[in-house]
Amino acid sequence: MRTTLLVSVWLAVLAPLSSAERATQNAVLVLVDGLRWQEVFRGADRALIEHERGGVKDQAALLAEFWRDEADARRAALLPFLWSTIAKQGQLLGDRDAGSLADVANGLKFSYPGYSEMLVGFHDPRIDSNAKRPNPNVTVLEFLHGRPGFAGQVAAFGVWDVVPSIVNRERCGFYVNAGFEPVLVPPVSPQQSLLNRLKVELPKQWASMPPDAIAFHAMLEYLKAHAPRVLYFTLGETDEFAHAGRYDQYLEAACRTDAFLAELWNTLQTLPSHRGTTTMIVAADHGRGRGPDDWANHDKDTAGAEEIWIAVIGPDTPPLGARRDTARVVQAQIAATFAAALGEDWCAREPRAAPVIRELLR
Ligand SMILES: [Zn+2]
Repeated sequence: MRTTLLVSVWLAVLAPLSSAERATQNAVLVLVDGLRWQEVFRGADRALIEHERGGVKDQAALLAEFWRDEADARRAALLPFLWSTIAKQGQLLGDRDAGSLADVANGLKFSYPGYSEMLVGFHDPRIDSNAKRPNPNVTVLEFLHGRPGFAGQVAAFGVWDVVPSIVNRERCGFYVNAGFEPVLVPPVSPQQSLLNRLKVELPKQWASMPPDAIAFHAMLEYLKAHAPRVLYFTLGETDEFAHAGRYDQYLEAACRTDAFLAELWNTLQTLPSHRGTTTMIVAADHGRGRGPDDWANHDKDTAGAEEIWIAVIGPDTPPLGARRDTARVVQAQIAATFAAALGEDWCAREPRAAPVIRELLR
């Protein structure tokens, strides 16, 4: 009797809630390319607000915008939505100063392996370059698209033009838009039509992606028109400006990213199908070097580039804020956690997938 009781209590603790028991009916996964946990939790780095190593053009202006003496005020100045809303109503993992460790598991510490690890839940050694090769693995997005109630309810928007390969557009079956591609799914709003033009008519600062703002608003127009239950969205300017050694532009991009997250979250709350029933996970694909001499870089030889952060907000996430002294988590756990928010079991379908981060979900 006692054993039976213990076993049932144990099973109740371990068993994921089914979709009927969860408030979450929709889920959004946002990938912010190469934004360091250092800026997320400490705010702007004073050592990089200078010309030599940070490439900063106007130090006084950057200091006025993002420098504050206290770390709490500094990070809130850089990422106001993250710190006013997600840190109050959701959770943040990866503050290494507080003993919360989040890492990539792939060891390569660059984009395609990170994007793939986050979406499939494990590191596949065949994924070893950023080349546009179709992912041989099924992503959690493709899995969800095949589950009851999700057909035609999944969409992926990547600012980076490699995203169609990462989600395997040829095979996945759901709508994918990336890079400079126009959004042509009807109804195409006048705003979407203009964005389609701007994507190709603006000067190309980068060969592989338009500005984040263009991709963001294109995604938002689609969201308002189609309200998919599962949405994947990636941003890239933080990584591009860091590679260029421009700490000022990198901070500005991080701040814009935060504003996009706020607008996305607020837009979700205006949709009757999504209000109060959407879980949003935001994470980086990799970190960068820790110091003033290697902050711009990230690869397998860059110490610290495996360090990432994860933010979660939604009706099934206990509002524990910025976590302290948590068990180490890895990026690969995001896939199963994302599915679990919707009551779906990714690990049952993909035995190689890392387990759900339990404390992020009730
Ligand atoms: Zn990069």
